[in-house]
Amino acid sequence: VNGQSVPAIIITAHQDRECRLSALDAGATDFLQSPVSHVEFCKRATTLLRHYQKSNQIREKAITAPQGRAYAQHEQNTAHGLNGKSMLEQIIDTIPIMITATDRAGKCLFTNAYQAALYNRTPGELVGKDIGSMSDPDYRERERRRDQLVLQTKQPIANFEEKMQCDGVDMIFHCNKSPLLNHENEAVGVLTTAVDITARKFAENHRTHMALHDMLTGLPNRVLLAEKVGAAIERCQKQGTVSALLLLDLDRFKIINDTRGHQSGDSLLREVADRLAAYVANHGFVSRIGGDEFALILDNIVDADDINSRCLRLLQAIAKPYSIGGIEQAISASIGITMIPEDGDQFDELLRLADLAMYEAKATGRNGHCFYSERLNHIAQTNGALEIELREALEKQQFALEYQPIVDAQTLAYTGLEALIRWDHPVRGRLLPAQFIRVAEDAGLMDTIGTWVIGEACRQIASFADEGVILPRVAVNISPRQFQNQHICSEILDNIQRYNIPASRFVVEITEEILIDNNDHVRASMARLRENGVGISIDDFGTGYSSLQYLRDLPATCLKIDRTFVSRIEKSAADRAIIGTIAHLAHSLGMKVIAEGVENEGQLDLLRVAGCDEIQGFKIARPLHVDVLRELFAGGQSQSGRIAS
Ligand code: C2E
Ligand code: CA
Ligand code: CA
Repeated sequence: VNGQSVPAIIITAHQDRECRLSALDAGATDFLQSPVSHVEFCKRATTLLRHYQKSNQIREKAITAPQGRAYAQHEQNTAHGLNGKSMLEQIIDTIPIMITATDRAGKCLFTNAYQAALYNRTPGELVGKDIGSMSDPDYRERERRRDQLVLQTKQPIANFEEKMQCDGVDMIFHCNKSPLLNHENEAVGVLTTAVDITARKFAENHRTHMALHDMLTGLPNRVLLAEKVGAAIERCQKQGTVSALLLLDLDRFKIINDTRGHQSGDSLLREVADRLAAYVANHGFVSRIGGDEFALILDNIVDADDINSRCLRLLQAIAKPYSIGGIEQAISASIGITMIPEDGDQFDELLRLADLAMYEAKATGRNGHCFYSERLNHIAQTNGALEIELREALEKQQFALEYQPIVDAQTLAYTGLEALIRWDHPVRGRLLPAQFIRVAEDAGLMDTIGTWVIGEACRQIASFADEGVILPRVAVNISPRQFQNQHICSEILDNIQRYNIPASRFVVEITEEILIDNNDHVRASMARLRENGVGISIDDFGTGYSSLQYLRDLPATCLKIDRTFVSRIEKSAADRAIIGTIAHLAHSLGMKVIAEGVENEGQLDLLRVAGCDEIQGFKIARPLHVDVLRELFAGGQSQSGRIAS
């Protein structure tokens, strides 16, 4: 009447627990995660409506029940009759609690209208009957046993729950039984009361489910995972079997999330969750423990081959294309593996080690799996120490830039320089990026370091200019993370303005990784840099997501062919053909082609033939200290690269 008996389904995009709990407190019955599928909604709504309808029916019937003999032997006190019912009867009939008294043989002595309505009867029709016979045999058997216990012990059974099917609707009751005693203190019967708690139960189950499950995908969460891993450890130790804990992290998920929107990201996560759930089906466990992190337990591992093939199938399942909002999307994943019980007997430790292995899988090219080993743990500890030192390195001015020349492929005249960062470690000496960049990135330090690199390169160019040393264009590497930074454009433009550097002498090198995402911000930044005359080089081309398709729409000025390609060019005719094709296409798109990592004369000749415009590599020069650079460019800027023979 006042909405009390209408179920409330909350459809929400919020995955916030607090928000859901307050909604439950306010009377919400169920939750669905937006966007909701029509089928799912109808199913839930129908279930809830049927239950509410049934509850209402029973209540209404009880109120309007025609008078009937509710009492078997007791004399009716018609003196206090109200509409033919006694006051007591009236009260008992209208409270929404089912009340039944049965004798020692299970025959109904008394029942109220509410209880009778559950069976679609009037109380009078039930008195003297064995009500149990109207219920399903299991329920009847449980009731009989409880009644016997009450009769024997003369003690009540308090607060138990019973499930009953009523016209096909599942209902849950909160029940109490107490003995009916006569004057001689003998138990002559049992009084049973039952309250319909189906709706409350629904909310309660939702609460429990929420505590143990992830709201977006419906998969178990970390809490339940911890429990299951604990059980797996125990099982393995007891039975001498082997299980594996897999930590699966989607590759480059953040890019999809950032570029296609959170809704698409969510849809993708749900689809991945479905595939993982289908994969483990009956012989494993899968949970979502973070944004794009899933953890699986695989049981009864035979040997390493067994796990290898299972991981392969898992990755294949993930790699099948997804249709998100009508657009096809591909994604891969990296898996880190720890063995139970071999690698540990504590959940936290096993997960930490799996995490190390997962990072290793990412580092070795993604879309693969990697087992945890002691070596990884050692590296992690070293990296931890390195991170602490890195945080101080900027302050203590331990970073420096070296510059590697780039020359014209035909004339070998210097056309550019690439700034490469070095770290003068107080103990270990001059370190290369490979020895610290990954740690810096993981520690979130790359932004600050990157800012320093841009500033330092500009300062250096200006300071040389003051000395009369004019450098050719200087390329600076910008990490993908750094390029996502909202202020990257201003940072670059402000610096070149401040140091009065012609924009055409400044180039940013970004990897193609950043291009696949179609990110508006990235596109806008690139466009703005180009409008201002700053050059853009696509670095490491040929690795990863090479596609000339997206290059077409980009305002890049140079394409740098990765050195792995260059290193194969002498042996592989196919690689030669590929480089030739890339060069041809790049030219038609108005880009210059630079070959990196050129180490010998043979490569140089082949690259010239293939149409490369510029050359960078040890064959021409190694990255140079600024003092060497000063000497090299002191007298002007158009000398040729010295070819070391
Ligand atoms: P990259 O951008 O591909 O830079 C070229 C790397 O190839 C440099 O390594 C360079 O020393 C090396 N190299 C050049 N010619 C040859 C050759 O003929 N043979 C071989 N084997 N190697 C050659 P480096 O200086 O160790 O830098 C490694 C990577 O670290 C760079 O690869 C770049 O991705 C990154 N990096 C360096 N400086 C910075 C920086 O300031 N910021 C960012 N974000 N990344 C940087
Ligand atoms: Ca580079
Ligand atoms: Ca490169």
